[in-house]
Amino acid sequence: MNKFEQLGLNEALLNAIADMGFVDPSEVQEKAIPVLLEQDTDMVALAQTGTGKTAAFGFPMIQKIDVQSKRTQGLILSPTRELCLQIAQELKLYSKYMKRINVAAIYGGASISSQASEIKRGAQIVVATPGRMKDMISRGMVDITNIEYCVLDEADEMLNMGFYEDITDILSHTPEEKSTWLFSATMPKEVARIAKKFMTSPVEITVGSKNSGAQNVQHEYYLVSGRDRYPALKRLADANPDIFSVVFCRTKRDTQKVAEKLIEDGYNAGALHGDLSQNQRDIVMKSFRNRQIQMLVATDVAARGIDVDDVTHVINYQLPDETETYTHRSGRTGRAGKSGISMVIITKSELKKIKSLERIIQQEFEPKKIPNAEEICEIQLYHLASNIKNTTVHKEVEGYLPAVMDVLEGLDREELIKKMVSVEFSRFANYYNRTSDLDQPSANGQSSGNDGSTRYFINVGAKDGYDWKSLKDFLKAQTGLERDDVYKVDVKDSFSFFNTDTTHAEEILQIFSEFKMDGRFINVEVSSNAGGRGKERKKRREGSRRSGNSFERKNPKGFGSKNKGGKQRQKKSRW
Ligand code: AMP
Repeated sequence: MNKFEQLGLNEALLNAIADMGFVDPSEVQEKAIPVLLEQDTDMVALAQTGTGKTAAFGFPMIQKIDVQSKRTQGLILSPTRELCLQIAQELKLYSKYMKRINVAAIYGGASISSQASEIKRGAQIVVATPGRMKDMISRGMVDITNIEYCVLDEADEMLNMGFYEDITDILSHTPEEKSTWLFSATMPKEVARIAKKFMTSPVEITVGSKNSGAQNVQHEYYLVSGRDRYPALKRLADANPDIFSVVFCRTKRDTQKVAEKLIEDGYNAGALHGDLSQNQRDIVMKSFRNRQIQMLVATDVAARGIDVDDVTHVINYQLPDETETYTHRSGRTGRAGKSGISMVIITKSELKKIKSLERIIQQEFEPKKIPNAEEICEIQLYHLASNIKNTTVHKEVEGYLPAVMDVLEGLDREELIKKMVSVEFSRFANYYNRTSDLDQPSANGQSSGNDGSTRYFINVGAKDGYDWKSLKDFLKAQTGLERDDVYKVDVKDSFSFFNTDTTHAEEILQIFSEFKMDGRFINVEVSSNAGGRGKERKKRREGSRRSGNSFERKNPKGFGSKNKGGKQRQKKSRW
């Protein structure tokens, strides 16, 4: 007798379970299934997504449904369309050997009439989002007056999303004597209120400890200054070349902005938030599922339904407003028995929040340093080598090989490897060579003199209508520095130099890292030589920064020229 059989599941379900490759029941399944099969009881289960909770309520519900009747017997409410579809799909898999079971998914943004006809055909189980469900009840398209089982899935999320009224309204159309099974990752007061109002002596089960995050998720935080959030994110991605992650931002606007920047900088990123149409969201999710997107930047609400099991990292670009939400975020990784990492990029002023998060997840955070240039370069170099080793050679390459061999003649193996690796690696190393450590916000030491002053190169000059005074005014306006803070302004024909105290260096470089004016990129770099214009020019040409802050990449022919290569480059790998 296998362990699922011991729980009391019937043969049809056991066969489906075998097909799905489940070997042992998960903790929540072990605790919930026998109770729900044997008793007609209410239940409150504290369990995260990824713990197998869909099956924990799905198996017993399917087994208890009367397949002889076509009446709606089970209702499952879930917060998002994605989750709703995911649950419906899972239930269909579970019931594949029970031909007479019909499951209908009811959610907004799709044709209400086709959903209504699906119910009419005899859906014994309806999986619905609260808004659409309410709508269909009021239009008489669904009858839930005789249901026997009602599941409130991700109850805390539904309440967070403001569905309290809808849920109470929907439940008022259901019979008193049904069984209600509430699943929630956390137990805030509102959920307890719902449980109290709509349930009678529920059996309580808890998976892991109350409100705790998944035990196989490691929590880390990275302390940076506010303006370094984005560069820090890039470094975390660069230090994890195989990252497959969800990056959480607080607002739709930030989500869009961060995703756009990442795409511009050559990362495989995408945005997921409520301002996108359903179609756009579906496309993004499809790309994420098949790994075309490695970094999915999402709002909390939009990320609710993400049903991807292999997420390696959750990155909290910003912490959520509600600390409880962190549990949901980190629960996107470490699913289905896998391990994961939840990273928090945090500033000094937010540091105290880590303590309250630790209380909620009942785990400690590990303070980590943003990887420095050397570490990243090393990781990427090895990654590159392993990519070369594992790459499949294209058939078309064969035809050109003799000519290529001719070109490369005379190079021995070691030389060839060095050169090949360098082709890709130099761009990256050049970029990182010029950056300072992010979590030690001392000023960039590259060319700060002993006098605590830093000299910069800027690619605007007299040709652009500047003189020392107007350039100083321009710099003041852009940086918020005082007049006396910008000095030694030296305007040349097509470029200029200026100084600030070294304490402002990071700020200045950050402000001008992606700076665009009248469609032109304004590039500021620390100058290694106060008057060395020849050297500066050479440096610029040779060492274009790898990513979005590259003058050469974005503006290869100088001011105002179109970036003809830009689109093509974005399609290439980051390397
Ligand atoms: P859930 O928490 O219901 O979202 O489930 C998370 C994932 O775990 C889904 O992909 C399920 O198919 C999978 N799963 C559920 N139960 C088991 C099990 N007993 N063994 C292995 N995988 C499971």
